[in-house]
Amino acid sequence: MTEFERWYKEKQIERTIKALKKNNFDAIYAPTAKEAVDAIFAMIEEGSRIGVGGSVTLRQLGFFEEIKKRSLTIINPPDLPPEEALRARKEALLSDVFVCSTNAITEDGMLYNIDGTGNRVGAMAFGPKKVIIVCGINKIVKDLDDAQKKVKEEIAPMNAKRLETKTPCVETGECADCSSPQRICNIYTVMVKKPSRTDMKVIIVGEHLGLG
Ligand code: SF4
Repeated sequence: MTEFERWYKEKQIERTIKALKKNNFDAIYAPTAKEAVDAIFAMIEEGSRIGVGGSVTLRQLGFFEEIKKRSLTIINPPDLPPEEALRARKEALLSDVFVCSTNAITEDGMLYNIDGTGNRVGAMAFGPKKVIIVCGINKIVKDLDDAQKKVKEEIAPMNAKRLETKTPCVETGECADCSSPQRICNIYTVMVKKPSRTDMKVIIVGEHLGLG
């Protein structure tokens, strides 16, 4: 990234954080992945039970390796067998801290997500005592129209490919607005302001993280 691109991105982050705060989200900027990981764990009390939303970002941050170094229990680790995963996802709705990413953040301070089963967006809205949302600078978009377009046209097909679903987008790379039983785009949410009963933190990382 050139110094001018970096300058532009930092200005974009500044106005996005300002807008998130105006919408009652407690938002901070972490310039690097390392600083983001430090910020996440500074927000988590020892002994906490952690729930997670499926996230490429968390894997890229090394979150799961870091959690093993601490006195923390992860309720729904990735790669649980399907018969255990459903029970664990339900239990994670009542975790002390739920950590996940978001599909997009608009410059006017809203969070946009698409979910297949709903456990991630459900936990983001209500249940856990604290929710920590961490995302790369690439997740910032101008407005809700851009968020919907980017997530539907780019991020959802890439996620379907990652999850190896039997959906048309995995063959073509384009969304066909399918009705497949394995469709991953069943629930669309817009978090306009911070949910009133949830302690919510948003960390924007100055690196490209996750898909899109
Ligand atoms: S609606 Fe279906 S085709 Fe479109 S991105 Fe989602 S899973 Fe793929």
